[in-house]
Amino acid sequence: MIVRGSELDRPLELRAEVIVIGSGAGGSVIAKELTEAGRDVLVLEEGRYVRPQVYGQWRPSMTLRRMGRSGGTTAAIGVGDSPTINIQAGSCVGGSSVMTGGVCFRIPGHVHKEWVDDLGVSSLSEEAMLPFYKRVEKAIHVEEVPEHMRSRGTQLFGQGSAKMGMPLQPLKRNTKGCCGCSACNFGCPHQAKMSVDLTYLPVALAGGAKVLADHRVDRILLDGDRVVGVEGSILREPDRKPKGRFVAKAPMVVVAAGTLHTPVLLSKSKIGRRSGQVGRNVTLHPAFRIAAVFDEPIQNWKGALQSAYCQHPSEEKLIFISVMAPPSVLTAMWPGVGPAFMEKARQLGHLATFGGMVHDEPVGRIWVTPGREPLITYQMDPRDRTAMFEGIRFLAESYFEAGAKTVLMPILGTEPLQTMDDLRRIDFTRLKASSVECLSFHPLGSCQMGTDPRRAVVDPRGECFDVRGLWIADGSVFPSSVGVNTQIPVMTMATRIAFEMLETPAPRYYV
Ligand SMILES: Cc1cc2nc3c(=O)[nH]c(=O)nc-3n(C[C@H](O)[C@H](O)[C@H](O)COP(=O)(O)OP(=O)(O)OC[C@H]3O[C@@H](n4cnc5c(N)ncnc54)[C@H](O)[C@@H]3O)c2cc1C
Ligand code: SF4
Repeated sequence: MIVRGSELDRPLELRAEVIVIGSGAGGSVIAKELTEAGRDVLVLEEGRYVRPQVYGQWRPSMTLRRMGRSGGTTAAIGVGDSPTINIQAGSCVGGSSVMTGGVCFRIPGHVHKEWVDDLGVSSLSEEAMLPFYKRVEKAIHVEEVPEHMRSRGTQLFGQGSAKMGMPLQPLKRNTKGCCGCSACNFGCPHQAKMSVDLTYLPVALAGGAKVLADHRVDRILLDGDRVVGVEGSILREPDRKPKGRFVAKAPMVVVAAGTLHTPVLLSKSKIGRRSGQVGRNVTLHPAFRIAAVFDEPIQNWKGALQSAYCQHPSEEKLIFISVMAPPSVLTAMWPGVGPAFMEKARQLGHLATFGGMVHDEPVGRIWVTPGREPLITYQMDPRDRTAMFEGIRFLAESYFEAGAKTVLMPILGTEPLQTMDDLRRIDFTRLKASSVECLSFHPLGSCQMGTDPRRAVVDPRGECFDVRGLWIADGSVFPSSVGVNTQIPVMTMATRIAFEMLETPAPRYYV
């Protein structure tokens, strides 16, 4: 049963064995796994519940406004010579899973190895997590994107990148019956993207889980060092302001509010202070994209939104992935008005795009504010700055190798480049990272997992060091960035945590 809080006359009596805060990639996995194992589960979600048949018909701007966190305007403020990074996240039943491009990667082997070596926890090895990867990939139908679904812009990029020694490889995505309409980031219109609202949540609901939308948890309730429940606000429509309060009781609570909000909830509940690490060690996978104009018609919106990628075998800091924004979204981001703008818009059908992102260091921080949204700061590591500019140069070179007539750089103040010589004349060491247009779709960290309660917020099983019965199962627990798209990593880690929870005897007390 999914209930909209905005339609309730009065708060419900809420009691369960397990409360899950957040219904995104992490929270939905926990809800399904625990319900299937016979636990009585209640999911509390701040965002709206919108049926896939409904959001699939909305314009991109409408999905962003109604299902995206702060309408898509969240940003990490660059400190020093760092870009200010726009961060996208979902806030709805299904969380960010509804907004993904569907790209599916496992965590690279070298990252697993680092975790095992640094933390000394063998259960974080690639081998130990294999059964959980397989369970997630089966549940969300991971399949390879066929070559014929590559957009023309992607094909051309591949010709250029192959000349540079990096041929394209096919991506895998969680799709079933995808027709390649390129609208994935705004909610698939054909229910072909297997987001958690179409996969994990229906299984949890069929097993008896309850999902309450418009229920924002404001505080975790404790009795000494044990969790006993949560309290929060029921949000009304259309302004999303609180219309009432609720209290929900349970002896086990799982926080899966995402990297940006899990630390806010912990801090406001005065949890995790011993480590001093709540809100720290945030990674963002800073992402950038290049646009190139070709003489031939490209119509880049035809094809799967994301279909192929490339990565140099020895380069662990950078990955390049095909991207496409719908024409309405692309043009909305362009500066200018009138005839000059129209001239640019006329080139839209000839425009190809490709993106890259950096496997970054943990330099972000989330600060609690008196309001609902946190302040996020990011001081880019010099190694990541170098990698980012190398990545931008590689994207531009590849498009020139493929015959681009003009390349548009994502660097403010840079004129469109007409030739490879224009590119070679740029001294990237003198450019400011703060002038790069950057985005993030993969915030991780902020309540890291570890073995030392003085340096980590949760133990390697996912339970908070400071509070018994309180678990965290979202992107915030990651010990480092992973360098690839994060939905499979988050869902796999959450599956592992769900099984750890099931191994842990349920607390005897019941409030
Ligand atoms: C536009 C976009 C594109 C992406 N594309 C890809 C991709 O192609 N491939 C890929 O692998 N990954 C992709 N990702 C990343 C992936 O979606 C995330 O890594 C993953 O969803 C994170 O899961 P999570 O559980 O940590 O958080 P989320 O999925 O964001 O879920 C958190 C949920 O908690 C809710 N919440 C927050 N605070 C509270 C509170 N106090 N009370 C109640 N509820 C609360 C939020 O509203 C939200 O619904 C993309 C993300 C975005 C935004
Ligand atoms: S390309 Fe279109 S049909 Fe395929 S998953 Fe994305 S939005 Fe759905």
